[in-house]
Amino acid sequence: MNFKPALGHEAIHVRFSKALEEQRLHHAWLLYGMKGIGKACEAMAMAALYLCEHRNGSEQQGAHACGECHGCCMLKAGSHPDFIMLERLEKKRDITVDQIREVLSFLSLTGMQSEKRVVVLNDAEMMNLQAANALLKGLEEPSGGSLLLMVCHDLMRLPATIRSRCMLGHCAPLGDTHMNHVLAGMEFSDVAKKMAVEIAGGRPGHVACLQDHKVVDGLLQWQALLKDVQRADVGDLQNWLDTHLTMIPHELIIDVALQEIQSQWDGTGSFTSRESLLKTMWSLAAWPKEVVRHSLRAGPALMALLLELRLVLKSCAVA
Ligand SMILES: [Zn+2]
Repeated sequence: MNFKPALGHEAIHVRFSKALEEQRLHHAWLLYGMKGIGKACEAMAMAALYLCEHRNGSEQQGAHACGECHGCCMLKAGSHPDFIMLERLEKKRDITVDQIREVLSFLSLTGMQSEKRVVVLNDAEMMNLQAANALLKGLEEPSGGSLLLMVCHDLMRLPATIRSRCMLGHCAPLGDTHMNHVLAGMEFSDVAKKMAVEIAGGRPGHVACLQDHKVVDGLLQWQALLKDVQRADVGDLQNWLDTHLTMIPHELIIDVALQEIQSQWDGTGSFTSRESLLKTMWSLAAWPKEVVRHSLRAGPALMALLLELRLVLKSCAVA
């Protein structure tokens, strides 16, 4: 792990570094932007910079953690006593109030290694209301030396009271140059690389799992099934869902599906049927979030949408 500023997010890093240098660092930062663009990496770079004992770097590019001091080594090893990374627990729907209380009591302690304590709170929008209320209290009464770095990809799901107490940092998807650089460092097969370039949209984290050939094979099968979704065997669709939904990120499944539908649809159909098709595509795009938000069973929910899609495509063809 290197603690350099995350590629494409140098501006926010410089802002953070300057504030730290000038000893006017705000106690809570909120990095927001699309999923898979490196926000959590940047939050880690900030945390490391804050805890590092021998910062280096230039004024222009901002300082970065040295990667070698005692603090940096402990952070790399995952054993820094003054650092916590908090995320939603596996199989839990939300970040819970208990998790937040734990974090707040950690932040209110005196640091073990120094005066400093840092928490990176990933997917902050997954906090339930109770958790968010508890966090708000902590934000209102920060203790000296504590730093909270929040990361979220759906800013509007966080209460305005929390947003307004944080230093906001917008992170944009990566541009082509940065993207090519990151993709070049990943181990893709030729077919995976083609797929990655098509669906990455400036989000390297979104396509990183295409380095696994099982994921690529699964998505190719999926694409083939959708090529003729109107005639595809429902049993085959069901089999695919049963074996792949737990293995492939849901957002990727939907990206491939939408891309396939768009490439097939020639724009024909009555106004009503076209509108229905767009509506179904919207529902497909929203499926990954809906599954989490409403604790739906992913398979049956997606199957229902696929069946709806068949009907809609049929009506487009007839009209
Ligand atoms: Zn260091």
